[in-house]
Order: sequence, then C-alpha cells, then structure tokens
Amino acid sequence: MPPFPRGCVWLVGAGPGDLGLLTLQAAWALAQADIVFFDALVNEEVLRLTRVDAELSFVGKRAGRPSPKQPEITSLLVTAARSGKRVARLKGGDPYVFGRGAEEAQALVAAGVPFRVASGVTAGVGGLAAAGIPVTHREINQAVTFITAHDAGGGLSERLDWPALAAGSPVLVVYMGFRLMREIGTRLLAAGRQAEEPVAIVCHATTVRQKVIRTTLGRLAAGDAEGAEAPALIVVGEVVALAPVLSPFSFAESIA
Ligand code: SAH
Repeated sequence: MPPFPRGCVWLVGAGPGDLGLLTLQAAWALAQADIVFFDALVNEEVLRLTRVDAELSFVGKRAGRPSPKQPEITSLLVTAARSGKRVARLKGGDPYVFGRGAEEAQALVAAGVPFRVASGVTAGVGGLAAAGIPVTHREINQAVTFITAHDAGGGLSERLDWPALAAGSPVLVVYMGFRLMREIGTRLLAAGRQAEEPVAIVCHATTVRQKVIRTTLGRLAAGDAEGAEAPALIVVGEVVALAPVLSPFSFAESIA
C-alpha cells in the first residue's frame, strides 16, 4: 500500500454503502488517518475502520442545518494537513464522480498540500449492480452516460443537452435527480425517448434499506414514483429490463 505521510490528504471513496465495497486502499487510509472529514452519504459503519484516537469530523448536510460551504471544507483540510496530520477526506461512492473531489484536489494543489485519491465504487455502477442492473450489456448498449440533474441552485441543470443525451446514449444514469424525476422524464420524452422505455429508481443501493422501483419513462413523467426515497439513482434504458433476471432476491435477503 502507498505510504500515508503526515501533512498529506487522501480523498477517499467509501463506496455506495455496503462495507464490502470499500477498497483495501480506503481501509488502509482510514486505519492511519489522524483526522477524518466525512459526508452525509457515507455509511457511518465505515468509521469503525478508523483509529480509536482519530478525530472524526462531520462536514455534510444534516436535516435542518446547512452544510459547511466548500471553501470552508477545503480550508479545514488545508489547515489540518499543515498542522502535520494525516487527513482522510471520506466521500460516498467515488470522490471524483459528482462528489466535488476534483475541486478539493485543485484547492489542495493550489495550497501546496500533497494529496492522493483512493477511488471508490460509484453508486451508478456498484449500486445498480446490487439492483440487478448492469450498466452495459453487449447486446443492449455501447454507451452509458452519467448525469447530475442538479444545477448549483437545486433546479434541473440547463447545461444538459437533453436531445443529444436522448439520441446518443441508450442508457442514462441520473445522480441527484430525486426531486427532479418528473421533469427528467418529461424532457426525455420530449426529446424522443419512448414512453414504454423501462426505468428503475434505485434507492439506498447496497444497504439493508435498498429498494428498487421499476417503472417506465411515461409513468416517471407523470410523477408516478410511489415509494421512492432519497438517495436514489434513476436509470433509463433497456438494461433495466434485466433486473428481474439478474437479481432473483433482494439485497436484504441475500445478506441474511
Ligand atoms: N460520489 C458519489 C455520488 C455523490 S452525488 C458516487 O460516486 O456514488 C449524490 C448522489 O449519488 C445521490 O443524490 C444519489 O443520486 C447517488 N447515490 C449515492 N449513494 C447512493 C446509494 N447508496 N443509493 C442510491 N443512490 C446513491
């Protein structure tokens, strides 16, 4: 394993939830860190892998309370590293997939703080697999697109080219789309995707609370997402139709 020197920051991916999907490199980083800054989407059981004397600092969003702003988080990382600590910055999934890990890395570079990334299993791959949905299948799709639905203000991002996405990507995996499901469905239909196209809403993927709601694009656009809970991924495309075959039992049953 690579050395974790003092004064260094590791951006660590915690995976989508299931502890088994944490990498050995992440476990190694957590076992050594003097301080761990973690987010809301991290399965807190992961924190049991830290040293008993490690400082644990929550920097995510918690009900009712705003999360620290990105520059504050970055400055906490820089200050901790400059004080000679081994700093682990733990994020759900993979730090570089819609996780602002790249922004933090840029700030560390600008501050002259050495860093490393311990990649994680992103929810849009490992989380779907746990729901019986492979992101690619040779006979179904030669491309898959990961989308973040949000803009900085929480609305549907206007930077997305829906007609191009609809035409060019047979499978779409949408992160952070929970509150925008209806609008996403509507945009894809308007851009030419079919109302019967299968859709899955994969909630709490890889955890004991995992729930998979199978619907269609037409029903999504009509606001029919009964039972869906955040965090959730929305998957659009024919790979969703494989779920009943590839997940004969739910995750909760499979670990029992
Ligand atoms: N860096 C993370 C993604 C952060 S964005 C990764 O690589 O997975 C946060 C979004 O990820 C959530 O809004 C949701 O869409 C998705 N997500 C993360 N964990 C999830 C889980 N266990 N189940 C379903 N969706 C999840």
